[in-house]
Amino acid sequence: LFAGPVEFLKGVVAMSGMPPADRIEVCFAGRSNVGKSSLINALTGRKTLARASNTPGRTQEINFFTLGEERYLVDLPGYGYAEAPVAIVAKWQALLKQYLSGRATLRRAFVLIDTRHGVKAVDEEIMKLLNRSAVTFQVVMTKSDKVNNATREANIAQVQAALAKHPAAYPEIIITSSEKGEGVETLRATIAGLV
Ligand code: GDP
Repeated sequence: LFAGPVEFLKGVVAMSGMPPADRIEVCFAGRSNVGKSSLINALTGRKTLARASNTPGRTQEINFFTLGEERYLVDLPGYGYAEAPVAIVAKWQALLKQYLSGRATLRRAFVLIDTRHGVKAVDEEIMKLLNRSAVTFQVVMTKSDKVNNATREANIAQVQAALAKHPAAYPEIIITSSEKGEGVETLRATIAGLV
């Protein structure tokens, strides 16, 4: 589906370090522990690919992966680390803003939301930022295998209500489980379909 190598390319701490904007890219954002690494691994069929993003020192970087020759997958730092020093948080927020508003080849942001928890205040913040940056974003709900149907339906409704407030939101939500494979093919096809 992604012709060519799928691999970690580089971690970036400043706009000057960005790889050339020579192909379509998508980015993944989400609270720490939302299941982002697991989903990237499931999506690419590479068991430990996204481990690169979670190694100490890489967690504050914007991490670029190749999805074949034609696409980049960009792993944004997990947000919501209360213990991160204020100066560090401010620094990566500035980089994040620059990236989101200055990357011409960025086609879509995927905002990961834990199916158990729904949209939290920090998720609202990232949605606002994406909206202000005019980046189309789509919600991907994670860990669907961990909830019963009632919680699932309630939290889908909660997410839909939150999305209604943001013009940049893509209305369709993708429900996923990296554990069971639900939605992974849908997400893969969505990325492959972006031009
Ligand atoms: P990250 O911090 O967002 O990269 O989150 P990880 O991918 O490291 O996942 C955090 C925890 O949730 C780990 O213990 C994973 O095994 C678990 N996890 C991630 N995705 C799923 C899933 O789809 N189902 C279940 N049951 N657990 C998951």
